[in-house]
Parts: sequence; C-alpha cells; structure tokens
Amino acid sequence: MTTADTDQIQLVDLGWQFGEIADEVESDVLNALRNGRYVGGDTVTQFENEFAQYSQADHCIAMANGTDALELSLRAVGVKPGNSVALPANTFIATAGAVARIGAEPVLVDCGADHLMDPNRLEECLQANSVEAIVPVHLYGQLAEMESIQKLARDHNAALVADGAQSQGALRSGSGIGQFAQVTSTSFYPGKNLGASGDAGAVLTSDPDLARQIRLMANHGSEVRYQHEIVGMNSRLDNIHAIVLRAKLKKLDAWNTQRRTIAAVYTEGLDSLAGVEIPRTASTNTHVWHLYVIQIDNRDSVLEHLTKNGVGASIHYPIPVHLQPAFGYLGYKVGDFPVAEAAASRILSLPIHPGMTTPQAERVCAILADAISAA
Ligand SMILES: *Cc1c(COP(=O)(O)O)cnc(C)c1O
Repeated sequence: MTTADTDQIQLVDLGWQFGEIADEVESDVLNALRNGRYVGGDTVTQFENEFAQYSQADHCIAMANGTDALELSLRAVGVKPGNSVALPANTFIATAGAVARIGAEPVLVDCGADHLMDPNRLEECLQANSVEAIVPVHLYGQLAEMESIQKLARDHNAALVADGAQSQGALRSGSGIGQFAQVTSTSFYPGKNLGASGDAGAVLTSDPDLARQIRLMANHGSEVRYQHEIVGMNSRLDNIHAIVLRAKLKKLDAWNTQRRTIAAVYTEGLDSLAGVEIPRTASTNTHVWHLYVIQIDNRDSVLEHLTKNGVGASIHYPIPVHLQPAFGYLGYKVGDFPVAEAAASRILSLPIHPGMTTPQAERVCAILADAISAA
C-alpha cells in the first residue's frame, strides 16, 4: 500500500519510489543476476557519466557508500594522519568519521540559523587552527555559503571538499553541486534524494588527476587488473545499484519538484503558526528538501504527539558531533557550539518525499498545530 491508502504519513516512502521505476528496472535487474554481472561494468560507467553531467562535474567515481566517498575525497586532496580538517558541528556523524578514519583530527565549526556552516565561525576557526581541508556540508538539501567558504579556503591555503550527501540536484546561482569544491562527495543511501537499492555513494570532481587517484584508491590501487600502483581499498558500485540509480536519476528533477511542492505547503501552513520557526533558504539556492526541518519549543512532546497520530517525524540530528561519545577524545564540551546545541534540542524533521500529497502535508500541519497547543 502507498501512504495515500493509509492514515500513516511516513518520513520517506521507498516503496512508492520503486513503484515508479519497477517497469523499467525489473527485467534488467533479473538479467544482471542471471548473467552474473555483479560488480562494476558498463551500466556503472553510464551512471557515472550521467550523474557527473547532472551535477555539473567532469568526473564521477561511483563507490560503495558516501562515507568512503568522503574519505577518498579527503585522501585525494592530501589529508594525512595528524592533519586537521574543519567541518560543521551539526552534521551526520559520517562527515567527522571519514576524517577520523584517516587519522586526521576533526576541528568543528558552529552553524548559522540556516543550519549551514557559518563562514564567520569558520574564519575564527582558521585563524586559530592550521587546517589541511575544509568540509562544508550541503545539509538538508541546500548548498552551504560556498562563495565565502571558497575565499576562506584560498586565503588559508586549505583544500575544499564538500559533503553533498543530502543535496543531489540542488543548485546555487543556477550551478550544480559539482561546481563548488575541488571534490564533492555524495551518498546514495536509500533514503537520500537519489537512493540506491542498498548502500552506494560517489565522488564528483572536475580535476582529472584527483579523479584518477580516487578511482585507483577505490579499486585496490589498480587500473590494470592485478597491477597495483598504491595500496587502495575495495569500494566499488554494484551493477544492480547502477541499474536502479540510472532509472531514478531520470526521475530526480521531477521528484525534487514534488518535494518543493510539499515544502511550499508546509511553509504556507506553518509560517503563521505561533511557536514554529520555519526553515531558511538562501535566495541564491535551489533547495531540494532532503529534509524539511522546523524549530520548535517542547520539541520532544510535540514529536510524541505527531508519532501517536501517525506522522513519521524525526530529528536530524539529536546530538551534535562534539557531544557524541565517539568524539569525546577531541575534548569539546557543552557550550562550545551554542547555535548547533540550541538547534539540536529544537529541530524537528517533518515527512517529505516524492509521492507525498498536498492533503497529507496539510494534515501534518493540522496535527502539528494540535500538538503545539497540547504541549
Ligand atoms: C548519508 C550521509 C553521509 C554518509 O553516507 P553513507 O552512504 O551512509 O555512508 C555523509 N554525510 C551526510 C551529511 C549524510 O547525510
């Protein structure tokens, strides 16, 4: 059943997405299974070319997941054990995890009211620390303030790697995500705007040397079979995922437009609702609404009310990176990133996905209004 048939309004609806591509992919997937073409191949190459063009980069290197994509991006621009890398305090843990896996040290930066890396805080961070690379995150579906961040990267001689896991199809001043950093990583985790049928990810770059390095690293350091130039890893894309990704990529602009329609219903319905802070979009950004994140008092009781009434709301993310036990060794404390910390206790992600209907979004607004008066 699709969400339209039930009272439940899910946060994401992957069954609906598969329904939209089933006719196109089912026989190809079965043929791939029968023919034994499992890892890499022509379909992977075709997808890489299509996604590179879609994202306005010269090269796309598909791989096993978005965390590997970020790690290999950082390694390619020269991040080494012991280096420091600046990244936002409010992001999915993988942004910091990829840095730590290299043996480099995450240096965190607070965000602004739009949840994106604050260039003023970044500048302070760069004055106090010597960083090898800066990793802005295009969080929730819109690009970070890249013009200011590019200038800071140049002034401080730092590499620029963007985390584009949540922003496939997003534009800034009409340009795609591949245009704004030396290297941009992305994730095709199933719930992302462009999701595979399992874990997958990719790196975008227009630098041919970086592209070659990344492809080598992702495939055991090898370009020619059984000849290994460097010690690499195994992080490749499976054929079945490429089949699914090619079909979904054709739909992505239409799906992102559907997300924008739902976002507009929320903004219209919630703007005047007392106590709700609606998300801010930079005027130069074309937002793809990976998540629609409001801020609200009594967030936990509002969330409980929504859940009880069949609305699949969630929190992205409840604990900032510096307060995660995994990064306790960095030595940060409560109060170090006040904007990210205040947001963590107030943010609430409302259901948004292609296939969701305007009446469903209106119902979420109504249930939210009830939840607020009850809280
Ligand atoms: C999903 C995500 C990642 C990690 O991608 P995986 O494919 O799950 O490894 C990294 N950064 C952000 C911001 C993400 O949302």
